[in-house]
Amino acid sequence: MTIQHTMSAQQEQTDTVLEVRDVTVQFDMDRGESRVLDSVSLDIQRGEILGIVGESGSGKSMFASSLLDAVVEPGILTGEVTYYPPDDEPIDVLDLPKRRLRELRWEEISMVFQGAMSSFNPTTKIRTHFEETLQAHKFDVEKGMERAREILSDLYLDPDRVLDVYAHELSGGMRQRALIALSLVLEPEVLVMDEPTASLDLLMQRSILKMLEKIRDKYDLTLVFITHDLPLVAELCDRLAVMYAFEFVEVGECDTLIRDAAHPYTRALLNATPNLNTPVKDMDPIEGSSPDPVDNLSGCSYHPRCPIGDKECVAEDPDFYEVGDDQQAACHKWERSLEEIPLSTQAHAEMEGEQ
Ligand code: SF4
Repeated sequence: MTIQHTMSAQQEQTDTVLEVRDVTVQFDMDRGESRVLDSVSLDIQRGEILGIVGESGSGKSMFASSLLDAVVEPGILTGEVTYYPPDDEPIDVLDLPKRRLRELRWEEISMVFQGAMSSFNPTTKIRTHFEETLQAHKFDVEKGMERAREILSDLYLDPDRVLDVYAHELSGGMRQRALIALSLVLEPEVLVMDEPTASLDLLMQRSILKMLEKIRDKYDLTLVFITHDLPLVAELCDRLAVMYAFEFVEVGECDTLIRDAAHPYTRALLNATPNLNTPVKDMDPIEGSSPDPVDNLSGCSYHPRCPIGDKECVAEDPDFYEVGDDQQAACHKWERSLEEIPLSTQAHAEMEGEQ
């Protein structure tokens, strides 16, 4: 499945920082070939905050790892990921020698994972992590530490306190912010965050998201935020890309997509979250379950759960359809979806309007 035809038109008008084309990750297992990312294509635009949203196991983390050629063996990664530096020639990420790839991973595209504790060496003070990272990449340590102090302050951390302690001496929220600061110390263009706040309480998650917005503006960053928590990122992101069963099913501007979601899965996801102030984990799950990666379903992968699917959906895998300005959905029947799958968020809004 590809959105190349729509994206190439977009690319003429926007400034793409990462271009993903037909990226697939598969594992050869005893019980068959398992596809955990299925020919996905997407353009990430410079300076945007892009949310990648979907249920657990939908392929979000594999997508994040693919952006940095960081899929672990025995996973087999194919396709193309092109990084466009602001003032240089495009870089074919999946074709880089190891040393250049290591540089790219910190200096151009940086990544923060869930669980900061495991990212810090417990026997090393936070300051040493910053200094060693700067030294390893041949950056000026004095200037780099100035930047580190500034970013820590931007994230409402006291640099004097944080730099001179061990990770276990910080709270979860402080650790996660220290890790974000570390990931930014080499001035990357893109920061990819994989469920970076999932282990934190809701208030801390929201507060970190607010800080991220400021950080993006101040440092001209592109942020890719990967999460299962749609309500959380709905307030932060410029665009959303919804994943289901190892592929993107809908992509669009955040407000538009939440108001006029066209794919039945996106609408189900929104209906599982009637109040956008409540986390998905507290909501009713969508009926049925996602396909196993070894299942080689014909046609649309959502058809076993879709309330409006028919024979065409079983016979033919849908390509992306233009459903609005900068909004695409991989559904043959997106117009029916708009008409026949009511959104509870709309009902709420209408009820609030009547009161
Ligand atoms: S293509 Fe068919 S089965 Fe798939 S989401 Fe659309 S209506 Fe449902």
